[in-house]
Amino acid sequence: RRKPIIAGNWKMNNTMEEAEKLVAHLLGLIEKRDREVVICPSFVCLSRTAELLKDHDVALGAQNMHYEDNGAFTGEVSPLFLKEVGVTYVILGHSERRHIFGEKDDLINKKVKATLKHDMNPIVCVGETLEERESNVTFEIIKNQVYGSLAGLEKEKMGKLVIAYEPVWAIGTGKTATKEDANEVIGYIRKLLAEKFGKEAGDKTRILYGGSVKPANIKELMDMEEIDGALVGGASLKAVEFSEIANYDI
Ligand code: 13P
Repeated sequence: RRKPIIAGNWKMNNTMEEAEKLVAHLLGLIEKRDREVVICPSFVCLSRTAELLKDHDVALGAQNMHYEDNGAFTGEVSPLFLKEVGVTYVILGHSERRHIFGEKDDLINKKVKATLKHDMNPIVCVGETLEERESNVTFEIIKNQVYGSLAGLEKEKMGKLVIAYEPVWAIGTGKTATKEDANEVIGYIRKLLAEKFGKEAGDKTRILYGGSVKPANIKELMDMEEIDGALVGGASLKAVEFSEIANYDI
């Protein structure tokens, strides 16, 4: 099967001191495995976290990025800065970026291309709101987000792409999508990838589920054929919980 990824998105949490404690505790709990584990701290904590992760098999991710290498973009963070500190994954188009900060697919598309240009792995987030799900437009929304954010990607670069399906109504709400619903939408995303970028892209791209993932539900999610891992918010802030998720099945 595709190599699973368990990624923790800390969002706007953890001071440097808290980050140091959390990482130290976590590194003692994570077991040897056949999967990739990624943690995504705030920009400010990236460099210190990179030092702590040195010689450990846990990868470093960022939560956002600008698409230009440098220039007059006050407050933004360049792909070069991320590369320099050892970031290998970048979460892009998270629903909080889309809904709170107004990011649209064309902007996310530029960021995805910049991430690939610099040889990092984008984790491109897509997902419908509750209103959209209830109006039965989930598949249409997902299609627009997938095709919009991935427009014009070169097939040769698809190997680095990771997608996260995060239904907005399941984020931070304690409501997990049923494993069948998550599997169905993720299977649909895979079909979209195959149609647009060829069978290999569909077969090989890792597609994660996100939204109230916890130690209690990781196993059943990972047992589904289409689900290749998890993007974890709240539970990634606690070392014991996140390690139980990362160590699922061990
Ligand atoms: P929760 O796990 O807190 O629901 O957050 C999910 C998420 O948004 C991860 O990116």
